[in-house]
Amino acid sequence: MARQIRNVADFCNVHPSSGSASTPPAPPRESCERVMQTARDAAAFGEVPVAAMICEIDAASGEWRELACSRNRIVELSDPTAHAEMLALRAACEAQKSERLKDAALIVSLEPCMMCTGALVLARVNRIYYFAPTEKGAGMAELLEATRDNAYRVNHYPEFVALDEYREECAGLLRDFFRERRSK
Ligand SMILES: [Zn+2]
Repeated sequence: MARQIRNVADFCNVHPSSGSASTPPAPPRESCERVMQTARDAAAFGEVPVAAMICEIDAASGEWRELACSRNRIVELSDPTAHAEMLALRAACEAQKSERLKDAALIVSLEPCMMCTGALVLARVNRIYYFAPTEKGAGMAELLEATRDNAYRVNHYPEFVALDEYREECAGLLRDFFRERRSK
């Protein structure tokens, strides 16, 4: 089936009049840079370098407000579920005192795994902006999309948006991390 994942750059090329209701708004550069830096920090702590940030987007002004930013802490916490997205999601829900997030977006350095995608669906996160796609097999963006018109459909579909600008740097960070780990 056709991959229906949105890409901000491609989309803007097709619809140069940005700002239309259907154009995914680009996250603030400052937030993306912070996610990149947090991913680099994860590597320095011996964790797979992935970072995630949850933002709330004001429906009226379009302003982005950061609710939580986390990195992987799987080794540190001896917790296989301590993925950056899960930690950011928990912190954001706690901050909002709600198990569901309204008008929320995730900015993440790597396309989320099955566990994190499930949690983001449950929290009703609207958009998932990711830097590097999953390298092996189909990513969750594609797998979730494939359930839309069949019995496996879920009750909420976040929109996946690839941010290609950071793709190479993130993929390189992950490659370097695993290469270094293998050589030890
Ligand atoms: Zn995950």
